[in-house]
Amino acid sequence: MTGINDRNTAIVDTETAAAATAAGNAMHELLRELLPLPRSITGDGVRQTLAALHMRLPLTTSEIPSGTAVFDWTVPDEWHIEDAYIADMSGRRLVDFHASALHVVGYSTPVDATYSRDELEPHLHSLPDQPDLIPYRTAYYAPSWGFCLSHRVRESLGTGPFRVVIRSRLAPGHLTLAEAVIPGATDDEVLLFAHDCHPALANDNLSGVLVATWVGQHLRTRRTRYTYRIVFAPATIGSITWLAHRRDVLPRIRHGLVLSLLGGPGRFHYKLTREGTRPIDRAAWHVVHATDAAATRLPFSPWGYDERQFGSPGIDLPMGRLTRTPNGAFPEYHTSADDATLVTAAQLGESWLTVLRILDVLERDATYVNLAPYGEPQLGRRGLYRTTGGHQHIPERQLALLWMLNQSDGRESVLGIAERAELPFAVLADAATDLEAVGLLRRQTDRAERVVSLSAPAPL
Ligand code: ZN
Repeated sequence: MTGINDRNTAIVDTETAAAATAAGNAMHELLRELLPLPRSITGDGVRQTLAALHMRLPLTTSEIPSGTAVFDWTVPDEWHIEDAYIADMSGRRLVDFHASALHVVGYSTPVDATYSRDELEPHLHSLPDQPDLIPYRTAYYAPSWGFCLSHRVRESLGTGPFRVVIRSRLAPGHLTLAEAVIPGATDDEVLLFAHDCHPALANDNLSGVLVATWVGQHLRTRRTRYTYRIVFAPATIGSITWLAHRRDVLPRIRHGLVLSLLGGPGRFHYKLTREGTRPIDRAAWHVVHATDAAATRLPFSPWGYDERQFGSPGIDLPMGRLTRTPNGAFPEYHTSADDATLVTAAQLGESWLTVLRILDVLERDATYVNLAPYGEPQLGRRGLYRTTGGHQHIPERQLALLWMLNQSDGRESVLGIAERAELPFAVLADAATDLEAVGLLRRQTDRAERVVSLSAPAPL
């Protein structure tokens, strides 16, 4: 079993707090840089975003031509936006795309005309209940145009007339997909997916894009059992296009996560796979719940993000979803208040670390056999009862040694023992490594998916 993470190497460092702080700060710096770009489901805003990510994590991009049939959908025309504004007749801009990419409805068709207030009104979108915020709206599949503005600005517009200009272009082009592949010891893959199509919104979903990028960056420095595939694509049409084009890799995907809304202040929410009993469901929930007892486990539903596509019946990949507060459940959702103050470096860093801890479970879960099962072996003689030294969790660690010895009858995996002992997986996995080193345990399997599926599913 050489080559398959045979040293049971953790992919999360010991100095986790410092690493999470550093990663969070770096992610937030890039977030502020990328935030204003006019991303959409196609176009140069996405390409510029991917170019910036490529500096941190080498990406391969694919350009899929407009008109390409992808399952039941068709890749749309490419949208370019240069400028958009509503001005008074003196030329003073009252609503200006250059102040926020949210001001123009995504996929707006070109306009250059003078309108009365009454004529303009059906093309305006605002939030009377949140009068200072600009909403986010798109019109991908029905040609139209519009502006989003705060309700206060809308109320102050006056009667007009207004000069209304949208310098956009909607023409055959391409939809851009990007992915990074980080090779592991086996061809078995873990898929991480983040949508990249929202303009000027921080939590939805630059946060997911950045966390995925930094996770990839970290994994490149580790020796892993799995091969990791990190995919960035627009929501819905992008994941459908990727699935249609990469059917060759789908049979190798053993586990996956959709990453979204990972920078806001809320608690973690893990959404189960379509089946609800996949190894990723147990691994993710164990880690999320250990991090935060108030975390929420959501049932699968065919609504939300791209887990809908990955969990469609013909695809049925084991893809869970990790978010903090989910879509639609926080007041800043799809508004200009989803900005670089809602998303903090600390929250991004914590999310990054949580994803790595989930992957660490997938990497290191295994079953062991106790080689000295008659009574409790004398740990002090083997130097395993330490009162000083490099271990962070002394009481937990001693408990973990006892739990590993007691439960290692070759049937229960480290994850199952962690669930029963209510101890963090990593503490038990480290204990197993040390017990193996002194000849008290023998590692029996090294396939997380086999181990976990042989164990009883956790009660939901
Ligand atoms: Zn969204």
